[in-house]
Amino acid sequence: MAVNVILARMGEVTLKGLNRGRFETQLMNNLRYRLRTFGKLAIFQSQSRIWIEAKEEGNPYFEDEERAHELMTAVTQVFGIVSVSLACKFEGDINDIDANAALYVKKHLERNPSHKTFKVECKRGNKSFPMNSPMICEEVGAYILEHFECLSVDVHNPDFILQVEVREFNYVYAGKLMGHRGLPVGTAGKGMLLLSGGIDSPVAGYMMASRGMPIDAVYFHSYPYTSEQAKQKVIDLAKIVSKFSGRMNLYIVDFTKIQLDMVKNSPHDMLTIVMRRVMLQIAQKLALQSDCKCLITGESLGQVASQTLEAIAITNEVADMPILRPLIGMDKEDTIRISRDIGAFDTSILPYEDCCTIFVAKHPKTHPKHADIEEAEKNLDIEAMVKQGAGENLEIIEI
Ligand code: ATP
Ligand code: MG
Repeated sequence: MAVNVILARMGEVTLKGLNRGRFETQLMNNLRYRLRTFGKLAIFQSQSRIWIEAKEEGNPYFEDEERAHELMTAVTQVFGIVSVSLACKFEGDINDIDANAALYVKKHLERNPSHKTFKVECKRGNKSFPMNSPMICEEVGAYILEHFECLSVDVHNPDFILQVEVREFNYVYAGKLMGHRGLPVGTAGKGMLLLSGGIDSPVAGYMMASRGMPIDAVYFHSYPYTSEQAKQKVIDLAKIVSKFSGRMNLYIVDFTKIQLDMVKNSPHDMLTIVMRRVMLQIAQKLALQSDCKCLITGESLGQVASQTLEAIAITNEVADMPILRPLIGMDKEDTIRISRDIGAFDTSILPYEDCCTIFVAKHPKTHPKHADIEEAEKNLDIEAMVKQGAGENLEIIEI
């Protein structure tokens, strides 16, 4: 009997010399965690590939193609996977291979009606099989041609490649979903993401996670100036990022009193930078408490007044740990493309206000100097603000 199985291919992980074992183990653990809601699965690895099968009969994700697609999409979201295919697995001889290949092609053409040309490729791991790979290709190719009048062979530029593998079992498959590549989350130290409700910071979190970094996140909430919906939007964005980055803690800082204090006691043209510096110090305190070794923001050079080189230099002064800004040299269009690709964009553009936009000056200083910030902060008790932000009313949500 033929069953559906899922084949996933590993990428950069396989380039790791001595660390390869650790990267692969992490990837397998992440896959198991990501797929925990898809029923009982057997997930095993052989060379640079991973096979995923249902342990029990009747698992809907292996019965119907649309559901299989859901499972495959989840697999593509695990960093370290380069591509995923739905394969048909069965036992038997060349006649079984012909029959299952034909069934597979039939379904493939239903999903891809424009496909007119194909070629067959074969890998034979089972050397006791009585035909070699070229013979299998020729036989299966001829069988498909005979049964599908609409198809012809094109060995150079086919619409699809029918893969046949003869191992302990036989497999046929065609086509693949591309994975998000990167390195398995957990192979780098943890980072604290400053997550606003905008487009940029979720992308920044995604990008660092793609280099193996687990993530916690912090959001500065100024209720009632920022609404419950604005907070819910950030929770939703954290959930989207966590599809890729795994479990995270989201810290919600009650920022209202701190912000009002700043508005009252520092010059308006410096407010954004003062606010940034306070945010970073609170984030840093939370980072130290939760074993994070760096901060991550969605800043991009020159995008707004607080993102000039001078402003960035002055905000950096308060940090004792690296601040990673993966979007610093990126064009907004490219950030938006990634945002759409990870499914965050529609949530990011929901029109709820951000705490930064509420009290901002019409003409913020774009080239602040150190003396400006000293002056701007002289009437503030920053230490007390940081203590309060990281302590009083702090809410922690497990995502
Ligand atoms: P985003 O699209 O991520 O909101 P932005 O282009 O709107 O970024 P800013 O508002 O200047 O830029 O924010 C710069 C960065 O500061 C954000 O990417 C985010 O990392 C952090 N940040 C801003 N506001 C908040 C907030 N309320 N809570 C947590 N982090 C924030
Ligand atoms: Mg913003």
